[in-house]
Amino acid sequence: MRYISTRGGIEPLAFQDAVMMGLARDGGLLLPQTLPTVGNQVVQRWQQLHYQALAREVLSLFIDDIPETDLEDLIDRSYASFAHPQVTPITQQGDLYILELFHGPTLAFKDVALQLLGNLFEYVLARRGGFMNILGATSGDTGSAAIAGVRGKANINIFILHPHGRTSPVQALQMTTVLDPNVFNIAVRGTFDDAQGIVKAIFNDLDFRDQYQLGAINSINWARVLAQVVYYVFAYCKLSRLGMKSVDFSVPTGNFGDIFAGYIARRLLPPGCIHRLILATNANDILTRFVTSGDYSCSQVQATFSPSMDIQVASNFERYLYYFLNEDGAAVRRSMESFVASGRLDLTADRQRIGQDFSSRSVSEEETIATIRDFYSEHHYLLDPHTAVGVKAGLELRDPGRPVVCLATAHPAKFGEAVSLAIGNEPPLPPALAELQKRESRCVILDAQQDTIKEYVAANALH
Ligand SMILES: *Cc1c(COP(=O)(O)O)cnc(C)c1O
Repeated sequence: MRYISTRGGIEPLAFQDAVMMGLARDGGLLLPQTLPTVGNQVVQRWQQLHYQALAREVLSLFIDDIPETDLEDLIDRSYASFAHPQVTPITQQGDLYILELFHGPTLAFKDVALQLLGNLFEYVLARRGGFMNILGATSGDTGSAAIAGVRGKANINIFILHPHGRTSPVQALQMTTVLDPNVFNIAVRGTFDDAQGIVKAIFNDLDFRDQYQLGAINSINWARVLAQVVYYVFAYCKLSRLGMKSVDFSVPTGNFGDIFAGYIARRLLPPGCIHRLILATNANDILTRFVTSGDYSCSQVQATFSPSMDIQVASNFERYLYYFLNEDGAAVRRSMESFVASGRLDLTADRQRIGQDFSSRSVSEEETIATIRDFYSEHHYLLDPHTAVGVKAGLELRDPGRPVVCLATAHPAKFGEAVSLAIGNEPPLPPALAELQKRESRCVILDAQQDTIKEYVAANALH
């Protein structure tokens, strides 16, 4: 399997090169040259498999430059860090199915992808030689999952900037209590936007970027999407084994990475297995407007109870656009250039086609809290605010008789404040979070100045 760019401007690459490149050099995103498909007989066989074995089957359809036994070892090590034997268990609550993606080391779904990505980076660097310095900014979740993914790995250092005093205390501790010598936490005296701006500026210094082999952690890496395809197939196989042949998935969406993995799973499985993907947004509803009207236009980011979805321009959207525009890289390039210039893409003429893949609803802050409350009183099951957005959209948009699987993207204890508004008290911290408070932590506090941060990175980077 070779990888191409959504903008058509690069020679096809092997999987390992695609993992190391991240963003394509022509500014596009990487995708497999052709999408694999499987038939009903394969699905029947897959129904018998546990998570790691299924991951091996799915991943090897997309990866042909890592020997089978190495891939098996990478997968086993990546998911050994999960606290549940099924990795991503599925539970029935009323007439909804909840796919719990939060059993990894940082209790959010990003672990599913970043545990594998950390191991893949280490694997490729060990074979090819070289090193990598990962640099990123986080408002909370992504940074801790990325650190958990690469802590202690050979030939990789990681530098994560977070806004000093502006993440939740638990989120900060999840990062700063990781004491491995390759992990560098930087609390920036400023906002998340300041931190993000500095990271972007440093990446734009191409000499610096090449000298230190800077790597990114954002959700544009193809391997992250690929790791996430597995749990859609896993959930489908479990339900189809119980006789459900056609299901919908409801996905709380920010950068469009998770739901795009669902789109790939939908194309992989026989037609109709995944009937539709329900794209759930909070007040930041650009993607809901796109699905319901074909209008993709930016507005201001609003802060909500589901901060990991407070995004306007979804970085993975371009991947869907590539298929939507019939795999025409030049058309994707034109569309994205015009979007950057005008802040708007008009696909209103094609909204019916979009509706075959997705349905969508935006969920308000009040509805989010009410959903946590109602779900708790009806089922005695606690939703985190991101999951609640997906559950609400799933309840509103489901078809009679067709099962809906709602993706649970974070453990409720990570967002105790919102939960407390809904049910009157914060959920008890699971042991993994409670014991963080007792641990030693390490972090430097620096001014929000590009030169200060650069100096610190240069002084501590592998080179
Ligand atoms: C990142 C995140 C999301 C959004 O996922 P995308 O792939 O960006 O669409 C939803 N919920 C939680 C808890 C997250 O951390």
